[in-house]
Amino acid sequence: MASATFESLNPSTGEVIDSFPRSGADDVARAVDIARETWESWRLVPAPERGNILFRFAQVLEQHKAELSDLMTREMGKVKAEAGGDVQEAIDMSYYMGGEGRRLFGQTTPSELRDKFMMSVRMPVGVVGAITPWNFPIAIPAWKLCPAIVCGNTVVLKPAEDTPKLAQRFVDLLQEAGLPEGVVQIVHGFGEEAGDALVKHPDVPVITFTGSRETGVLVTKNAADELKHVHLELGGKNAIIVMDDADVDLAVDGILWSAFGTSGQRCTAASRVIVGSKVYEPLQSRLVERTEQLKLGYGLEEDVDVGPVINRAALEKIHSYTEIGEGEGAKLLTGGEIATDNGLDKGFFYRPTIFGDVDPQMRIAQEEIFGPTTALIRATDIDEAIRAANSVEFGLSSSIFTRDVNKAFRAMRDLNTGITYINAGTTGAEVHLPFGGTKGTGNGHREAGQAALDFYTEWKSIYVDYSGKLQRAQIDNAE
Ligand code: ADP
Repeated sequence: MASATFESLNPSTGEVIDSFPRSGADDVARAVDIARETWESWRLVPAPERGNILFRFAQVLEQHKAELSDLMTREMGKVKAEAGGDVQEAIDMSYYMGGEGRRLFGQTTPSELRDKFMMSVRMPVGVVGAITPWNFPIAIPAWKLCPAIVCGNTVVLKPAEDTPKLAQRFVDLLQEAGLPEGVVQIVHGFGEEAGDALVKHPDVPVITFTGSRETGVLVTKNAADELKHVHLELGGKNAIIVMDDADVDLAVDGILWSAFGTSGQRCTAASRVIVGSKVYEPLQSRLVERTEQLKLGYGLEEDVDVGPVINRAALEKIHSYTEIGEGEGAKLLTGGEIATDNGLDKGFFYRPTIFGDVDPQMRIAQEEIFGPTTALIRATDIDEAIRAANSVEFGLSSSIFTRDVNKAFRAMRDLNTGITYINAGTTGAEVHLPFGGTKGTGNGHREAGQAALDFYTEWKSIYVDYSGKLQRAQIDNAE
């Protein structure tokens, strides 16, 4: 075991939560060996039985929902209600994938030859390396591990170094639900050490990664020599479009929730708002007024709307974008500062920030800030709005507020993102539809829904000839 350790901090107070082993390549290799060995028996456990363990896991998560939510607010900073939502997402995913144990459908199809049978079945792949971020510290491990497990794979999980305790609880509760030892193992530690070793280990054929674009590119390169299957869920620069005919109050509710929920640290956060020119002024003033009423603080307190950001480096990066925005000539409408009053200086708090008069090509409208900062952009019509929305390297989520069904359908077709919302903000995915993005947000794979099964299995096509003689496809049945 690693002798070095690292600490997890409470981002609201700066207090140490706990310390964890700083694992290196040797620890990863040990975990992979166990996972590889366990896979030989786990892959033979009937899928409905694997699914039953996930049903029990969902129930165990329900029993521990309050405890996990409380820990999440302490370790990661999310306010109470949002922390509960994060755990609920894991519960939903576990039930959903538990049900897959009795489906995992393949196909049968008629052969072109007599007395021959054809079918396709899903096969587990082997050891999955799962690398997760800190922003959905229970939901994201569930999105990856539940489908991996039900499909008959074993897993080595390397969680983010900012939320090790939550990941440890997640894995402990899997054991409590009856998951056999060795099916899921956790290695704590840093990305460049433990994460890197997992990505490069030759006995880990599948890597699922959620994190930053830069790291995603590096992971892909490091996995290339072994031709691993790599799933990436990277960043977003998601836009809400508000057309002139929209319900402005509803749009403001959607923007506040999408831009400042989880302190803007969601891959689906709305960091751009593209607004029709007639509605721009009233929307701007209502949005700024409502934003200034948001209460910043420790999320365990009932009336707090916005918690801290994850750590000091994030705080500094977010603040640097305020300076960049001002330097680019955008108008700072509210926020734009590190909050230090009423004891907030002990943690990492940033005031919800809105820039007005933003040009779609400015850096604050192009780069992922991952904090409570959003940018208002004017558009004269739907064409200009869609062009602006699509003018970024990412393609995760998008939204349009309009009462015009024609504009809504234009947006559904033309917004180049993996997810589009109509008359709702850019966040709020449910576990039974595919989740992921186009362009620089990923590499074409999706998690959640049925799409996840394609990543965690290999298709095998099986032909059974019961004619008792040689039958040659494409030859013996040809005219
Ligand atoms: P974030 O900005 O969310 O911290 P990262 O991409 O740095 O994004 O981190 C996401 C996850 O990737 C974390 O678990 C982190 O430890 C891991 N990670 C970071 N660097 C590497 C790497 N070189 N190889 C594998 N995993 C890494």
